[in-house]
Amino acid sequence: MDQALDFHTAKALLEWQVELGADEAIGDVPINRYELEDTAPKPAPNADPGPVAVGAPPNPASPRARPELGPADAVADAERMAAAAADLGALRDAMAEFSHCDLKKGARSLVFADGGPAARVMIIGEAPGRDEDVQGKPFVGRAGQLLDRMFAAIEMGRAREDDGALYITNILPWRPPQNRDPSPDEMAMMLPFVKRHVALADPDILILMGNVSCQGILGRKGITRMRGQWTEALGKPVLPMFHPAYLLRNPIMKREAWADLLSLRARLEGEA
Ligand code: URA
Repeated sequence: MDQALDFHTAKALLEWQVELGADEAIGDVPINRYELEDTAPKPAPNADPGPVAVGAPPNPASPRARPELGPADAVADAERMAAAAADLGALRDAMAEFSHCDLKKGARSLVFADGGPAARVMIIGEAPGRDEDVQGKPFVGRAGQLLDRMFAAIEMGRAREDDGALYITNILPWRPPQNRDPSPDEMAMMLPFVKRHVALADPDILILMGNVSCQGILGRKGITRMRGQWTEALGKPVLPMFHPAYLLRNPIMKREAWADLLSLRARLEGEA
C-alpha cells in the first residue's frame, strides 16, 4: 500500500470500492510472482524462540503462545454446536457463532437457506457465489435462475406462491474466495451443521447438486455416473443431479437433468 495513505484514508477508499461492487482483492494487471525477488526474511533454521517471560504478551507467531485448533477439534466443536440446536433458527445462530472456518472472514453473508422449511424436497448445493454472498440467499445467481426454471418445469418452486415446495441450502454457508472448490477441512467442519439441517428440516427427499454435495453427503464423487441413480443417506432417499452451473456450461446435458426431474416427480407422486 502507498505509504502516504493513512489508515482512515485507506479504509475510506476500500469502502468506496466495495460500494462500487468490487468484491475481489486483485490488481488491474497480473503479477508473475515467480519473477519477483524473494524479499521476505527467512527464518533461521531451528531458531529457538527463547524463553517466554511470565506475563509477557503472547507472540502471535509462536505456536507455543497461540495453540491452534486442529481440524479434528473444529469438527468436534461443530458437532457439539449443531447437536445443541433445537430448531432451524438456533442452527443458523450456531453457524453464525462458529469461528473455526476462515471462509467466514472473507464473506459478506452467512448463506443459510431459502424456500419452505417444511418442503418435501431439500436441495443441497455447494457453496455461495458472489450473488449469493451479496443477497444472503442460496442459488440466486445465473445457476440459481436455471435451477428455478428447471424445477418450475415440474411445477415446484421455492417461493411462497409455489407453497415453498423446495427448501435449498449448501454444504458451505460462506463464499470461498474466487469461487474455488471447498477444501476437505472446510467441508468436514461444516458437515455436522448440514446433517443437523437435514434432520431439523426433515424433508422426504434430498437432491444433491453436483460433485461437492455428493462428496459431502455420500462420501464419493463422479456425478456423471451417479446422477439419476437413487440412493440413500441421512435416512432419506437421495437423488444426485448435475449442478446447474455445469448445465450452463454444458447445455447438452440438460436432457439428463430433465430425466432426473421426471424421476423426482414420479417419486413424489408415489410412482417410483
Ligand atoms: N452454486 C451453489 O452450489 N450454491 C449456490 O448457492 C450458488 C451457486
